[in-house]
Amino acid sequence: MPISDKIRPAVTEIIRALVSNGFEAYVVGGAVRDLLLDIEPKDYDLATSASPEEVRGVFGRRKARIIGRRFRLVHVHTSHDIYEISTFRREPTQEERSERIDDDGVMLWRDNQYGTLEQDAFRRDFTVNSLFFDPVGERSIIDLVGGMEDLKHKIVRSVGPPDTRIEEDPVRMLRALKLVAKYGFSLESDLEAVIRARASQISMAAAGRLLEELMKIVASPHAHATFEACHDYGLLEHFWPALGEEWTNGETGGLVRKLLTERDRRVAGGDYSTSKALALATIALPAIARGRGCADLEPLWEHEPGLERDMRGQVRSFFEPFPVSRYLTARMRDIMLMLPRFVAGKRKSKLVGHPEYKYGRELFSLVALAREWPDDMVAAWPEPPKRQPRGSERGGRRRPNRNRRRNRGKPPRKA
Ligand code: ATP
Ligand code: MG
Repeated sequence: MPISDKIRPAVTEIIRALVSNGFEAYVVGGAVRDLLLDIEPKDYDLATSASPEEVRGVFGRRKARIIGRRFRLVHVHTSHDIYEISTFRREPTQEERSERIDDDGVMLWRDNQYGTLEQDAFRRDFTVNSLFFDPVGERSIIDLVGGMEDLKHKIVRSVGPPDTRIEEDPVRMLRALKLVAKYGFSLESDLEAVIRARASQISMAAAGRLLEELMKIVASPHAHATFEACHDYGLLEHFWPALGEEWTNGETGGLVRKLLTERDRRVAGGDYSTSKALALATIALPAIARGRGCADLEPLWEHEPGLERDMRGQVRSFFEPFPVSRYLTARMRDIMLMLPRFVAGKRKSKLVGHPEYKYGRELFSLVALAREWPDDMVAAWPEPPKRQPRGSERGGRRRPNRNRRRNRGKPPRKA
């Protein structure tokens, strides 16, 4: 099937609206890559010659909202989805790059310099991510960087010299390894050598961006493969030191890999929650248990005074480089603290009413499988209701809403 037939009609409509107003507009990046690989894109990125204000002019203030601090983008809202439209940009020059400014802890650089399609193609990270597709005019791919050939051979190649491109933005190392993990691509040899040599520089990236990448990894069904690729290329110990140590730990490394592999399998099958708190608790559990002297989870830790506070400290130090919120930390701890209660199998009705019951039970079922506990241990616990009531309705912990003003108009975030 030609890829113009696979693109969501809403995307084609957005592009048509821009083109009929005299602008250039294309589908770009991961969406084109995925469509060519015959995979349904997770999201669509669109690129245009129109400035953010011009895009807003085309769709109106109600449908088009300008967002972004590092880059200014427009979110175009349709009845079902939100599409991200970026204006063609160019790479900042050395001089512009040196004008980095620090704005409440976040490193910014002035790369809102608009450019042409060609400049936009060359500022992108990898050739396979730099393909443009025009679904309304020629219906053809624009490939200025050799991305089609690399896609055919499943190669991740930097656009431009890998050394410079990784130095400019070390997060690209992680992005390259995500392609390795998700699609089985191989790294072009110079890029591979640069990643091996510069792996430690990942820790220089802004903590907020590292957390963002981590969240994307754990939201996918490729978490295990991604961490494994990071481990293989020497990045894991720098990206996430505590997990790097865990991965090779003789006592618990096997367990964390097993839990994650099974979680990914269930997420891919669509019968498992993609809750971030649950995913992070799954990864943290073996290290936390080891820290409490029960590495093989048999028996699990006993309740003792100060356990909750203690565990909060353990969780914090496990997630050391990432600015994980207190809210998420508390939820992870609650989910893990439920495990011994599941194992004991007593006072069921009390646990079933717990706001994190659904996630606690899912983690328990993963652990039971990894540890080969009898099936009836999990089956004895009732399936959670399909939708748990949220926030105050369920009498549980409420997400702090300090950012209510800032979040106005944004889509609700997933749990
Ligand atoms: P995914 O399937 O995870 O969405 P993606 O490649 O689409 O993969 P996005 O984060 O959605 O990733 O980014 C969209 C596009 O923006 C990329 O395909 C790439 O062209 C460009 N891009 C994203 N991050 C960078 C970066 N750090 N440096 C250069 N280009 C980038
Ligand atoms: Mg994308």
